[in-house]
Amino acid sequence: MEYLTVRNAQQLILDAVSMPATDQKRVENVSIEHALGRVLAEDVRANRDIPPYDVSAMDGYAVRSADLANIPATLKVIEDIRAGDMPDKIVQASQCARIMTGAPVPDGADAVIRVEETAELTENRVQINCSVKPANDIRARGESMLTGEVALAAGTEITPGVIGILATVKCAQVQVYRQPRVAILSTGDELEDIDDPIDPNKIPNANSYALMAQVQALGIKPALLGIARDDPVELEEYLQRGLKFDVLLVSGGTSVGVHDYVRPTIETLGVQMKFWRVAMKPGHPMAFGVLQRNKDTQGREHRIKQQNASSNAFVFGLPGNPVSSMVCFEQFVAPALRGMMGCTRLNRRTITARLTGNVKHRAGRAEFIRVTLSKDEECYQATPTGAQGSGMLLSMAKADGLMVVPSNSDGLAAGEQVAVQLLDGTAFQNDVGFQE
Ligand code: AMP
Ligand code: MG
Repeated sequence: MEYLTVRNAQQLILDAVSMPATDQKRVENVSIEHALGRVLAEDVRANRDIPPYDVSAMDGYAVRSADLANIPATLKVIEDIRAGDMPDKIVQASQCARIMTGAPVPDGADAVIRVEETAELTENRVQINCSVKPANDIRARGESMLTGEVALAAGTEITPGVIGILATVKCAQVQVYRQPRVAILSTGDELEDIDDPIDPNKIPNANSYALMAQVQALGIKPALLGIARDDPVELEEYLQRGLKFDVLLVSGGTSVGVHDYVRPTIETLGVQMKFWRVAMKPGHPMAFGVLQRNKDTQGREHRIKQQNASSNAFVFGLPGNPVSSMVCFEQFVAPALRGMMGCTRLNRRTITARLTGNVKHRAGRAEFIRVTLSKDEECYQATPTGAQGSGMLLSMAKADGLMVVPSNSDGLAAGEQVAVQLLDGTAFQNDVGFQE
């Protein structure tokens, strides 16, 4: 089998996991309290004009702008309108109303003067010290949203701002895409789990937990299936359990060693392997397969006509080396899970940074180097996080991002521009970062 490029492998995965937009099984209703991070599966429309009437943007006086041709002007105050009140009176020539931010502008008035531009003479007489154009400091009815207008389109990722809009249009329940159910399995005779006593001959299981956290960072709660030994019978049992989920992540055992049983075993369970080699470092061997559940054992179409792609299971065979496993998750699993969640932005945000030192590279495969980022006035700088061995997980623990060395590069020199994929934890920085 050929080595795929990272991009081709990713595209193949995305094509396999993509589902028809009309698939009702993909959607569920959640309450607004649980909607953050999910993706809208329906258009959300405004159910009233926002604001529902012309409102004052300031504390001050609702006036007729024509009365202020000559200033200062003295106006009669005919009423007080607070937020929540409805005005009783119509503002006539040489009259005004005292008005608070968010209160409805009374008929007759066409502008608001902020209180700082006025001087109260008596309880019901005010001096206005500036003239204004019509509509000054008025938020017009419907300027944010008009009744019936799509406020949020299906496919919108639900952020705190989106939650605010949902509350505005009184959507206490919202239809979102269902999240894929994800299971994680580690394989290897040499592994001991986090609660096991320390055995000097064993290797701690880091991958189950690092992968768990990567899945959690996408907003999904995965199931941990534990550790399967390098034994075809035990492995088959574990894999069978894992294939009940939408997505199964298997770490280790996908290579070509004599005890690497994952690929052959998974194939006997009906999973069709799409690829198992990618031209990347760290990374290969990296395998991907699909279990088509609505085909019977002979591979014929099931009689149930409704082709429901969401019932397929997708298996990612990730390399056992902890850094490789995490890097492959970023390149292949994260975009697939986000796609299945209904997101349209599938890739990590990349930034351009300047390399602080030379980097060796042998052409032939793309390399993902773990870097920290710093910033001066001009740009970001990327510095590798020390030794980059695929078993050296600290290189990943310290990283702000993954710097991409293109496969055709013969090495990079200090000062060169590189693309860096930002990792979780980079949305915040030490300094404020802007001038006021
Ligand atoms: P494998 O892909 O099974 O050949 O494993 C490659 C390397 O990754 C070996 O050195 C394993 O000990 C190590 N490894 C495999 N699985 C894990 C795991 N869950 N946690 C930490 N290291 C692992
Ligand atoms: Mg192994």
